[in-house]
Amino acid sequence: MIRRLIMDREQEGGAPDASGLVPPGMERRSLHMPAVPEPELLRHYIALSRANFGTDSGPYPLGSCTMKHNPKYADRLAASPKVTRMHPQMEDDHTQGCLELMSRMEAALCSISGMDAVSLHPAAGAHGEYASMLMVRAYHRSRGEDRDEVIVPDSAHGTNPASAAMAGFKLVEIPSGEDGLVDLSALEAALSGRSAAFMLTNPNTLGLFEKDVREMASMVHDKGALLYYDGANLNAVMGRTSPGAMGFDIVHFNLHKTFATPHGGGGPGSGPVGVRSFLEPFLPVPRVVGDEGCRSLDWSRPQSIGKVGSALGNFPVLMRAYAYILRQGGDGLKEASARAVLNANYLKRRIEGHYEVPFSDPRKHEFVASARALKKGKGVRALDVAKRMIDQGVHPPTIYFPALVEEALMIEPTEDESKESLDRIADVMNAIAEEDPETVLAAPLEGPVGRIDESKAAKDAVLSFRRLRALRDV
Ligand SMILES: *Cc1c(COP(=O)(O)O)cnc(C)c1O
Repeated sequence: MIRRLIMDREQEGGAPDASGLVPPGMERRSLHMPAVPEPELLRHYIALSRANFGTDSGPYPLGSCTMKHNPKYADRLAASPKVTRMHPQMEDDHTQGCLELMSRMEAALCSISGMDAVSLHPAAGAHGEYASMLMVRAYHRSRGEDRDEVIVPDSAHGTNPASAAMAGFKLVEIPSGEDGLVDLSALEAALSGRSAAFMLTNPNTLGLFEKDVREMASMVHDKGALLYYDGANLNAVMGRTSPGAMGFDIVHFNLHKTFATPHGGGGPGSGPVGVRSFLEPFLPVPRVVGDEGCRSLDWSRPQSIGKVGSALGNFPVLMRAYAYILRQGGDGLKEASARAVLNANYLKRRIEGHYEVPFSDPRKHEFVASARALKKGKGVRALDVAKRMIDQGVHPPTIYFPALVEEALMIEPTEDESKESLDRIADVMNAIAEEDPETVLAAPLEGPVGRIDESKAAKDAVLSFRRLRALRDV
């Protein structure tokens, strides 16, 4: 806005001038930038990059988060000026190529998910969930119904209840059965005329396939509610079954968990949503419409939930995922899901002698082990195992989630790890289970930092130079 006003002044023949445009008290006279020579600046950033760990540094079996390799061909394509030099406010006749790619990406996601229409706008899985919950609300309201409850299983990812609550729904949590699956009688008891939707991921976060999903779909639909698919685990089933075939009405995709794009990390992620045709009018605006060569953006959609993000979604991320889908092809995606499942089951077998793995086989793309026995025997907890893994160059798995497994270590190797790499993860974990507890409790000994005070780090984050300067008076 301010930049626009400054540009207007420039166009009127004046010099760029921001005076009077910034409200009093918000002006800054100096930026107080750190003044360091180039070599020191470089060393600072190189040191930071070394303190970091990514899938390009080593195995990263972070359960649920699905840290896949990001193929470099996709990065190269996304860096092309044909992608990077586009602007969302360019006229439609200058962006036909991009609109065409978006339209094809939507079609690819429709065919993978078995849905009828897709919007590419949401910027993360959680954002897709939130947009979907807004659509659930708009749908019921359009039918004159004011349903105010959303049901989630206790194994659900934390973003599910958070998204439903943000969209104004009350949460109804249902317990899992002994087998780790949704308990149908608990679902039946939770369903009523107030139910707006049931949110489910399949396979669930324990890596177990909800085999009764079709029955759940009928139960949910009989009560007039919608069935929502948390697509974070789609990489386990793509090409084999689909949310559409399972009876879901809405899905979100985590492109970074299924189609190999960078995780957002609060930055540019992507979490498209797909719906059955009866929900299409509620999708976010604008929609890409028209045929090849004369595509345009349609904003006039009276039932739409409106705009859910800036521009048209994270276009370079979408293009990486589209490149991955094209490169894999249908057979390649099917093969990827098979390998994701094979890798998880292989790794599970390799560590079972040292860690308990509750619930029965087979697993899909991930499994949840428990450090309960280690804690009892040696006082070594899941957290300690995780910290010690850092010393061995393997990223720790997700810990203490889902809450229904004590001392949980949630492990997902993904399809990208080789047998050698899976063996390395297993060897590291098994050695830690046998190691002297004193060493494990002191870990990490070789990481860039030792044990940190996690609650202080969360509560007292110092993320900007300005804040650091204020604290240290540098
Ligand atoms: C990762 C994840 C989410 C949230 O997705 P983001 O893209 O990280 O916002 C939701 N549900 C499940 C099961 C997940 O694993």
